[in-house]
Amino acid sequence: MQKYRRRFYFTAVALTLAATALASGHKGPAYEGPDAPVPMLMPGTKIPLKLWETEQVADGVYAFRYSFYRTVFVVTDEGVIVTDPMTETAAPILLDEIRKITDQPIKFLSYTHSHKDHAAGGEVFKALGATIVAQSQCAANIEETKPEHVVPPDITFDEYYKIELAGKSVESFFFGPSHDNCLVVQVINPGNLLFLVDIANPPDGWTMFYNPSPSEDRIWNMENFFTRLQNLVEERDIETVIGGHMSGSFDPETGRPMLMKGTTGSARVVAEKKALWMALIEVAEAELAAGTPPEDVPDVVVEKQLLADQINGYDPEKMRILMRRMVNLSLTGE
Ligand SMILES: [Zn+2]
Repeated sequence: MQKYRRRFYFTAVALTLAATALASGHKGPAYEGPDAPVPMLMPGTKIPLKLWETEQVADGVYAFRYSFYRTVFVVTDEGVIVTDPMTETAAPILLDEIRKITDQPIKFLSYTHSHKDHAAGGEVFKALGATIVAQSQCAANIEETKPEHVVPPDITFDEYYKIELAGKSVESFFFGPSHDNCLVVQVINPGNLLFLVDIANPPDGWTMFYNPSPSEDRIWNMENFFTRLQNLVEERDIETVIGGHMSGSFDPETGRPMLMKGTTGSARVVAEKKALWMALIEVAEAELAAGTPPEDVPDVVVEKQLLADQINGYDPEKMRILMRRMVNLSLTGE
């Protein structure tokens, strides 16, 4: 198992590099056509992956995947609602894909958060007259850092915003800081689908984080965030999640790392990811309570293999980073 984990780590690095290359648009093979294999993602995998793919998931609701990133658009008789444009490379292809389905105008673009690997590329939709919607702190982030190719929103909101056209809707909910300081979760109808970006991906919430670095997740609010998210899932009777990314796993036959097919999956990923966050915090707190010096906790947790068998794609380096952050949370509250 150790060997596979090590391989998974290198694959995760390759994924990150591929994402960086694609997001920056410097060497994206975007114009080779949709059947081009996803570069570097899955060398030797048995699952052929198109570089991009559009899939209908409910009446008028489509998921568009580019590389291992995913967004959603809703086609109605009164226009089209798009969520994340993703990148300046992916967005023109997304527009082409929408145009294969409908001639309706693109009315709205509604960001899930302010990170430029999901929010860039909106200019092609803005040029067509789309109104851009974002949580107010996302607008402030964009104003402050002015990321390239991220178009500032026209409409901002604090807690909740509903876009509705011809009875179809995208609702955005803000539950406080989480993966970004402004990330929203979206409920899409028809379908009663929960679109989660960078929070949890089907089929498994017990998956190692793509990037556990300090700038990614506001761990001090994760319990509150996931509690509110779970309440939403229960109140709305949501059964299905669309993940903003493909999930990583292992080929059951060969043990090789692989990306999981599957655009939608069970909403139980919400409870699973919350349980993972809580378990990480508990492990660090238990070590501190047992008298382990704070600076030794990451190595001790990795040596003891704590949670190693429960986390899909477990990576000791990422676990050390996570444990440093959990120790800090325990000592300072942040
Ligand atoms: Zn993000």
